[in-house]
Amino acid sequence: MHGSQRIADESPYIKQRLPFSMSIILSLTSSIALHRGINKILWGNTSDDGVEKFEYTTKFSVGFSKILNESEPDKKDIEIIMPIANKRKWEGFMEFKDNPALFSLTWSCITERQTQCGKCGACIARRLAAKLGGIEDTTKYRSKEFDNPLSIKQMNNPKNIPLGSVFKSPRGPE
Ligand SMILES: [Zn+2]
Repeated sequence: MHGSQRIADESPYIKQRLPFSMSIILSLTSSIALHRGINKILWGNTSDDGVEKFEYTTKFSVGFSKILNESEPDKKDIEIIMPIANKRKWEGFMEFKDNPALFSLTWSCITERQTQCGKCGACIARRLAAKLGGIEDTTKYRSKEFDNPLSIKQMNNPKNIPLGSVFKSPRGPE
């Protein structure tokens, strides 16, 4: 599920961002987790995701965990953990460096198909982060080619790429 971006162009749904998106997603995730006896929820949010959106901050996840715990006093200690929140997307993806097969099973696309499109903003961010992180990307994409919105200079020095800039590129979703 994606909450920080509008739905992709080819979606049959209205192109708009879902208000309270992470509150909804984390509520559902926490409910399912508690039902299964799990109280720690890992959220793979990076500093490139949801830039300038409060729902994508560690402050929000800590506060939201507190609300969840107060809502279910018998089931304490729900914790939403963001282990790579302070890393860039490509730095977080480096965790997959030795396991490209596992990386290929992860999902980024904001379209509602069975195969990731490969060219929406989320797919482009994913493909670039994999490239910058040195991961062999064996993911199946509907579009094998994609337009790289970054310059050669940025690709050679990814720390200078402004946060979330891939999503704001002309090739990203509206
Ligand atoms: Zn996509």
